[in-house]
Amino acid sequence: MKAAPQSALYRQLPSVDELLRQPEIATLAQREGHTAVAEAARNVLARLRDEISAGRLDAKTIEVALGGMAEAIERQLRAALAYSLETVINATGVVLHTNLGRAPLSAAALEHMREIASGYSNLEFDLATGERGRRDHHAGRLFSRLLGQQAGLETSTVVVNNCAAAVLLALNTLAEGGEVIVSRGELVEIGGSFRVPEIMAKSGALLREVGTTNRTRIVDYEKAITTATRMLLRVHRSNFRMVGFTESPRLEELVALGAKHRIPVVEDLGSGALFDLRAIGVNDETTVAESLRAGADAVTYSGDKLLAGPQAGLLSGKPAVIARMRANPLFRALRVDKLTYAALEATLLAYLRSDMAALPAIAMMQLSVEEIRKRASALMDGIPEGKLELILIEGESVPGGGAAPGAALPTLLISVHCEGTTAGELAAALRRASPPVIARVEEGAVLLDLRTVLPAQDAQVAAALRTLAETP
Ligand SMILES: *Cc1c(COP(=O)(O)O)cnc(C)c1O
Repeated sequence: MKAAPQSALYRQLPSVDELLRQPEIATLAQREGHTAVAEAARNVLARLRDEISAGRLDAKTIEVALGGMAEAIERQLRAALAYSLETVINATGVVLHTNLGRAPLSAAALEHMREIASGYSNLEFDLATGERGRRDHHAGRLFSRLLGQQAGLETSTVVVNNCAAAVLLALNTLAEGGEVIVSRGELVEIGGSFRVPEIMAKSGALLREVGTTNRTRIVDYEKAITTATRMLLRVHRSNFRMVGFTESPRLEELVALGAKHRIPVVEDLGSGALFDLRAIGVNDETTVAESLRAGADAVTYSGDKLLAGPQAGLLSGKPAVIARMRANPLFRALRVDKLTYAALEATLLAYLRSDMAALPAIAMMQLSVEEIRKRASALMDGIPEGKLELILIEGESVPGGGAAPGAALPTLLISVHCEGTTAGELAAALRRASPPVIARVEEGAVLLDLRTVLPAQDAQVAAALRTLAETP
């Protein structure tokens, strides 16, 4: 039999209107809306035309395809209406994983956001006077209390969209048209393409580099000071660490130099812990309070890194300095919405109540190896002996988010092997689970770290592994 010419195949395709008159598809259109179903039908037809022109359909196979139009349209519709942003399970052991959305929010933060977002609120309304209020009052008062307790100082805080915005606001407010002195050892790029020189250029301030990559002394800063100098900026090296022959002045020395020349000192902490990481064995990360106590005029830090709250940029410091930030029109352009304030309020209250374990990212960092062992053993016990080989090995989790780059938290990892399957293929199969499980691939092994898996997700990780074990 001769193959049907392509033109004959094209002629067999129904029109969108004809499809919409088919009873099954008409019912679908009633349920899901005419426009969405028509769009799905057009897409399915376009796909069939592509198949014909590629020579992948003949007289027989096109009949099969045409018989399954209703299902194809329904599948297309479901795919088109699905969210693109979806939950994944973070089994990487990186607690503040930028690609996976950094800090998960606490139950209280979610509840407060839901409450505030589902109706009206006093976001910018003073209930006592009936007049206009300030949105930054809500988080500002809690930051003042918390940093007051921790640093013994009077401070103010403003909230912007992220830490990059906080740095931009600080530079533009204090140094536009002037020079900012930064050590060459601190001109780093931080994940998500945050580069200090580029933010500096956009802020209208001029970068004045001093020192060398590995060593910068206080005299290097002093020699660079001119009448054009507006700020001494110190930048946390974030996910980059220098070891060996290195030197940089202590913040106190910079503060003394700044005071002598009446130049403000700003520290970009990036991660900005509000709790002492020494409690979990991480020793080289200064807290926001320590930086303020050392005399920094302002510090900038993220809301969704070690603070364990929503994405935000915080600028905390001396009230007079922060008041200037608030008066800058850029502050209006960088401001955050009520959802962020709601989540921040709930997050800060956890600190004020000393209930940090309510913050999931902090609870994860506090997990002991013993607790991880218990969960891992229980999970592994539920996987049938199949193609998979699961073994528990010692390893390390990391805080991530640019915090304490050298720090590691001891953990136990479930190492997953599968006869005849590469680690890359195994990791890809885990990503196809629902919800996707994101594993760590290291030296040809797939590793799962339960430290960053929410306890309620253990069963889902087990289900994903069981599917792998049972799939031929
Ligand atoms: C992460 C980081 C930033 C950027 O913070 P975002 O909140 O992602 O904008 C800036 N500076 C330092 C030192 C950082 O670690």
